[in-house]
Amino acid sequence: MDNCLFCKIISGEIPAHKIYEDDETLAFLDIGPVSEGHTLIIPKEHATDLTAGSEESALAIMQTIKEIAPKITEALGATGYNLGMNNGRDAGQDVFHTHMHLMPRYENDERKFVKSFPDNQFLAQIKSKIAQKLTN
Ligand code: AMP
Ligand code: ZN
Repeated sequence: MDNCLFCKIISGEIPAHKIYEDDETLAFLDIGPVSEGHTLIIPKEHATDLTAGSEESALAIMQTIKEIAPKITEALGATGYNLGMNNGRDAGQDVFHTHMHLMPRYENDERKFVKSFPDNQFLAQIKSKIAQKLTN
């Protein structure tokens, strides 16, 4: 894709701190890290997001994560990591080439996800909406 930032990183047209590469995937440091070692893992196949891409590329990024996550955490002294993927503008996606965020976590760091506490009836309604689509 001509105008895709991450395709340009794959081709080398734009520099990045690349940490891992194989035939199907590339991993490099995020320039705006939310934690030390924040890494982006992308498929080389261009697709705007997870749903638009192939099953092979979706599997390939998970294989890469499984390979590199323990090495990143060990190298940096992290004690865990979060994975996150923004799909769609309202989900916070800014770069429209599929990417997974790997964010190393450290003992006593403060980052938290905010939970809500819906009642059972509300969860049942949500489940029913999703289940209808999945059985179609
Ligand atoms: P998202 O908001 O999920 O689309 O994430 C895009 C990520 O790409 C952000 O976390 C940015 O900090 C990161 N980013 C943008 N430009 C670059 C770049 N040239 N090299 C590395 N990371 C980048
Ligand atoms: Zn691309």
